[in-house]
Amino acid sequence: MKHQRIEHFRFEDESEERLRILFEQHHEEARTRAFALIEEAREDENGCLVSDTVTPRKVRFRGHQYEVYRFVYCVLNEVIASRHHVVRHRCHNRLCVNPEHLIIGTQADNKHDDWDYAAYGVDPNFL
Ligand SMILES: [Zn+2]
Repeated sequence: MKHQRIEHFRFEDESEERLRILFEQHHEEARTRAFALIEEAREDENGCLVSDTVTPRKVRFRGHQYEVYRFVYCVLNEVIASRHHVVRHRCHNRLCVNPEHLIIGTQADNKHDDWDYAAYGVDPNFL
């Protein structure tokens, strides 16, 4: 929540614009595609839905390319993520596209994760 005040003053970036248009114009098609991508994945012993690839799969949708896990997360949760937002894997398996294993954060969150934990949820910027 600590970034919210700043973000009110930001202009929409390319990633947000792309997702906003996707939700406004192609939402059903995107959902169908996201579910199809999940269907194609293989479930491993950890409950992860993975592809047999070395790097995360990409999907092309309406002229733009997305990592499948980012596409699945944003489309199914109707999240308009900016380019500063990263979709992270709670299962630590970057090949996984299981929506339940995905969580969104900012790049700053990645760095602050450990500090936040150490400070019991207190914003480390104010310590
Ligand atoms: Zn997983």
